[in-house]
Amino acid sequence: MKKKIYIPVEDIPEEGVTVFYDDISQLWEGSEYRIEPFSRAEIQLHKTADNDICLDGKITVSTILICDKCLFPFKQDIDAAFSYLLTTKKTGKEPNPLTDEAEFEVKANDDESYLFDGINIPVGDIFMEQFELQLPISKLCKEECKGLCPACGADLNKETCNCKKTAFFTPFEVLKNLKIQEKSKK
Ligand SMILES: [Zn+2]
Ligand SMILES: [Zn+2]
Repeated sequence: MKKKIYIPVEDIPEEGVTVFYDDISQLWEGSEYRIEPFSRAEIQLHKTADNDICLDGKITVSTILICDKCLFPFKQDIDAAFSYLLTTKKTGKEPNPLTDEAEFEVKANDDESYLFDGINIPVGDIFMEQFELQLPISKLCKEECKGLCPACGADLNKETCNCKKTAFFTPFEVLKNLKIQEKSKK
């Protein structure tokens, strides 16, 4: 079963506390991600006058990703630093996907609010959320990865193959061809 990490609010002293985690890789056990051991995290917590919790943290997570182009696994370090205001008070209106982006820009300097039960701080969930936010959209083993030959599958980073270079059609060329086909139907 997936391991959870919580910090009970009652364990946070008045002067605040810093907590270090030497290995948070177990959080992703059984998930789609391969996380290397000794992925670390560090958080600072202190209570506000309002009984909310200020959380500042950072994670350094080593993960194994599959290159989009050559399909080989490669190691990638994900670093994230983040701040949250943990609160039990549900403030404001329901999120609106149409206006949230604009609002987010205005409030960009504020801590992000995070609703929790007021008893246990779900730091494990926060680490996992931050990891996913920092994952690169295009996963490349190296910026100049040449990928695999679409015809013979040769790894073009290591070898050149003798396949003929196939012409690439731009979307516009595809559209052009479609129009010609439509005309010829008439
Ligand atoms: Zn690659
Ligand atoms: Zn080839």
